[in-house]
Amino acid sequence: MAGIVGVLAFDRIWNVSKFLYYSMIGLQHRGYATSGVVMLNEGMESFINDVSPEDLEFQLDGWAGIGYTGSRRGYPIHNDEVAISVDGVLKDPQGFLRTFTKDREKALEEAKGAFSLVALTREGEVIGYRDETGVRPLSLGGFGFDMGIIASEPVAMNVIGGDFRREILPGEMVTISGLNVKSVILKEPKKAYCSIEYVYQARIDSFVNEGNVYETRVRIGEQLADEKPIYADTVIGVPETALPFAVGYSRKLGIPLDLGFTRTGSPIRTMLASDSFLKIVGVQLKLNPIKGAVFGKRVVLIDDSMVTGTTLKNTIMSLRRLGAKEVHVLIGSPKLVSSCPYGIEVPEDKELIAANLSEDDIAKVLGADSIHWLSLEGLQKAISRSTLCTGCMTKSYPKVI
Ligand code: SF4
Repeated sequence: MAGIVGVLAFDRIWNVSKFLYYSMIGLQHRGYATSGVVMLNEGMESFINDVSPEDLEFQLDGWAGIGYTGSRRGYPIHNDEVAISVDGVLKDPQGFLRTFTKDREKALEEAKGAFSLVALTREGEVIGYRDETGVRPLSLGGFGFDMGIIASEPVAMNVIGGDFRREILPGEMVTISGLNVKSVILKEPKKAYCSIEYVYQARIDSFVNEGNVYETRVRIGEQLADEKPIYADTVIGVPETALPFAVGYSRKLGIPLDLGFTRTGSPIRTMLASDSFLKIVGVQLKLNPIKGAVFGKRVVLIDDSMVTGTTLKNTIMSLRRLGAKEVHVLIGSPKLVSSCPYGIEVPEDKELIAANLSEDDIAKVLGADSIHWLSLEGLQKAISRSTLCTGCMTKSYPKVI
C-alpha cells in the first residue's frame, strides 16, 4: 500500500518541494518503508528515490513534482519524459511507463491491475488516474489559485492548507496543466471500493470512496453495540483508528468512554513490522496504557482488525497488568481470512489467526474474556454501500486483474 501525491504550481516561480514534503508526511499512515520524489524544474532532473520524506525537506527545487511513500522500492519510476507513482497493483510497470510515454490514454486503457496512479510529464502536467474499480482512492484538490494537487487522500491537501475538491472517479483520468484541469472518463466504472480503507487504512479525518471515514467508523462502533452489547464499566479504543468505534459503541450503550492509551514516540504500524521483536517493541513504544482508565474495571477493548494477534495479545497483557478486571475484545472488521491481491499488505492465510483458530481458542491465546468480530452485513450497513471489495474477509474477489 502507498500514499501517492502530485503537486503542480500554475506559475513557475513557485518551489513546490515543501508542499510535496508535507503532503507525503500526511500520507505516511499508508506506508512509509520507502519513499521518493521526482521534481520538474529546468530538466526534470531531481530524481530522488529510496529516502525518507524527512530527508527530502527543503533539498529540492521545482514548480511541479510527484511523491511516493509506501512499501515498494524504486517509486516513482521514471524515464526522461515521464515519472509515475502507483498505489495498488499495476502489472509490468516498466512496460506501462514505455507505452504511457508515447500514448497515455492507450496505456491506461490497456493497463492491467487494480491501482491509482499519479504521473508527472516533462511538458508540465500532473496526471491522476483511478482504475475502473476505484479499489484504491484518489482525490483532486488545490491550493487557492496557485496549485493543483492530486493525492491518495484529501488529508495530503489539508495538511498544507489546501482544499479538497472531489474524488477522482473510477475510470477517470484528470490532467492538471497550466491553469487547466481536464477530465476524461476512460473506462466504465465497475466500483469495488476497498472496505479496509474505511476500517483502518484511510486516516481518521479523511474522506475516501464516497464516505466520511470518521462517521463511518462511529457507525461501525454502533453496529458492534447492536451485535454484541456488553455492559462493561468502560469502553476504550486502540488509537488512532479504533477510537471512533469506541465513540459509537459508548454512545449506543451508554457506557463511559475512556482514553485507554497514550502514545509514546511516533506511530509504528506494527502489522507491517517484519519480525516479532519489532511487533512487541512497536506496540510498547506506540501505546502506553493508562492505569486510571482501566484499574478495577470490566473493559471493552475495541481494535480495528486482527492479523496475527501479537499486537492485541500484548495490549491485553498490559491492561491486565494495570488491574483491568475483565477484558472483552471487539474487532471493527469481519475476520481477515485471506490475503489482498490489490496492494494492501495482509499477510498470507497461514499467518492470519482468524483463518486458523476458533473464536474460543483465539480468546484463550490473547488472554481475553471474550471476543467478537463485526459481521459482514454489519460492515456493509455501516459503510452504507454494496459496491465493495471484501475479498480478504470472504475470499470472494472482484475480477479486476
Ligand atoms: S482484498 Fe481486502 S484489503 Fe484488498 S482491496 Fe479487497 S477489501 Fe481491500
